[in-house]
Amino acid sequence: MPIRLLPDHIASQIAAGEVIERPSSVVKELVENALDAGSDSITIEVQGAGKRLISVLDSGAGIPTEELALAVSRHATSKLARAEDLFHITTLGFRGEALASIGSVSQMTVESRAVEETVGSHLVVEGGKLGQQDQMGVPVGTRIVVEDLFYNVPARLKFLKTDNTERRHIESLVTRYALAYPQIRWQLLVDGKPSLQTSGNGDRREILSALYGVDIARQMLAVDFKEQDYRIHGFISPVSLTRANRREITIFVNGRWVRDTAVTAAVLRAYHTLLMVGRYPIVTLFLEMPPEAVDVNVHPAKAEVRFRENDLVFSRVQRAVRRALLAYSPVPELRPRQFWGNQPETGTETTGQNWPSAAEIPFPESDANGADPARVQIHTGQLDADKLPLLRLVGQVAATYLIAEGPDGLYLIDQHAAHERVLFEQLMAQQSQERVPAQTLLEPVNVVLPPEKARLLENQLDVLEHIGFDVEPFGPNTFTVRAIPALIVGGDPEAALNVVVEDFEDDETPLAAATEAKLTARICKRMAVKGGQILSMEEQNALLRSLEACQSPRTCPHGRPTMIHLSADLLERQFGRRGAR
Ligand code: ADP
Ligand code: MG
Repeated sequence: MPIRLLPDHIASQIAAGEVIERPSSVVKELVENALDAGSDSITIEVQGAGKRLISVLDSGAGIPTEELALAVSRHATSKLARAEDLFHITTLGFRGEALASIGSVSQMTVESRAVEETVGSHLVVEGGKLGQQDQMGVPVGTRIVVEDLFYNVPARLKFLKTDNTERRHIESLVTRYALAYPQIRWQLLVDGKPSLQTSGNGDRREILSALYGVDIARQMLAVDFKEQDYRIHGFISPVSLTRANRREITIFVNGRWVRDTAVTAAVLRAYHTLLMVGRYPIVTLFLEMPPEAVDVNVHPAKAEVRFRENDLVFSRVQRAVRRALLAYSPVPELRPRQFWGNQPETGTETTGQNWPSAAEIPFPESDANGADPARVQIHTGQLDADKLPLLRLVGQVAATYLIAEGPDGLYLIDQHAAHERVLFEQLMAQQSQERVPAQTLLEPVNVVLPPEKARLLENQLDVLEHIGFDVEPFGPNTFTVRAIPALIVGGDPEAALNVVVEDFEDDETPLAAATEAKLTARICKRMAVKGGQILSMEEQNALLRSLEACQSPRTCPHGRPTMIHLSADLLERQFGRRGAR
């Protein structure tokens, strides 16, 4: 075949393949255009998971009648004039490809009226072919309706996921943009029903509630970090609030939603040792930096960016998140109000006078190679805030708590949570060294499981082996347990195996590491000493020493506190020895 230039409509379809992957890509491009047009209200309507219809109506500047046909052509943009402009882009769009791409794989109708016009216009594009343009009386702004997406690219349609999934993509996209632009009135209608509606009053907590529910929204911690011309702000979950995957880590860079493994890694590193392995925080971070610090022209759907100074971004994100975490979740310290129940409230909820503020916490600079995401998991540098001082055991109360004295006051330790933490770290350490001491049972135990559970277990026998079990299939739905992790010897093997299977039921995560960590935490919970169990002095001491040796002694593997700290300072004040109030 001779070489020839592709006709424009084919070139557009090829470009569309990169830009428009699924219905939510259309929503993203249209929403970005509406934002670039300076809208204060954006209404999105979706039918049939976006395959039937997507409509985006905005109150922005509009497209002048004489530019309408141009707007839907390829490489037509009002946002970029010179090549140099590419390096300080302040708009979301700049490639001039979106409308042409969408128009080439759907039936697209554009209605628009520019601010300076008295009447608007209307244009239909069908599979890339421009129809006739008419005058139309419409309000200032733009409405773009996209129908029968991919009707002329059936192969694309086949790649789409279920309607539920595609709808979820759209909803999560719109909600995230709503969170990023809280001063805009957003409305999302899915099959005629309101799915999201915001007031445009700028209150991000309100939108967080829509996204995660009131309860989670209330728990989210605010991040606000400034350094030179960088600002990093947003919301992060406390260590007690986690998810099984990193899907809830959302990063915006200069108002643009991007996927960025380095920023995500920096976030995770900030949480390192505070979260159980295989658990991830809920995070929405907005990074603001000078436009020239970031190259946005590296991905056709503009979903990735490149930072000029990657290391700098990495370390700033890490510090921003870590500071917010430390400011809000030190060992819970009893404050007078909680202690006596009748003291007048002082200070704010989260920064009462006994709580260190972020600024007071010394923060070690991350090491020079901080930006290397591969090293995140093996980072062992500890923050002083995580470490326990040497503790002197005083005794046990209510058969549930240990009391210990440290150089800085009194510690009340939950024996169950503390033991969970100790077992968890010991087991995880053994796993990482590929040698979980297994204890062979004197008598192998046969365990019969319901068929469904048996099938789940069969698929995971090698994971079990890695965490110290020796389990073999033995006839239908029956398994022989020959060994269990040495750490849990004394526990009931059948119960332990059941714990494991329950966990597979909850979450068939294919990631062995995540499964192992979850299982381990679960086993530790079952096997740890309970509240209400009397411990000998030796046992109490042993628990305390093991806890001191932990990497993250202050939380149990599920993120709950293992201890409460009554500082010497607090005690002195309470007893009127100093600065009595
Ligand atoms: P880009 O956003 O990269 O410029 P698009 O294909 O998305 O490319 O849009 C082409 C042009 O059409 C934009 O540069 C803009 O001038 C105009 N346009 C598109 N959508 C809107 C809108 N909702 N309001 C105003 N102008 C718009
Ligand atoms: Mg655009």
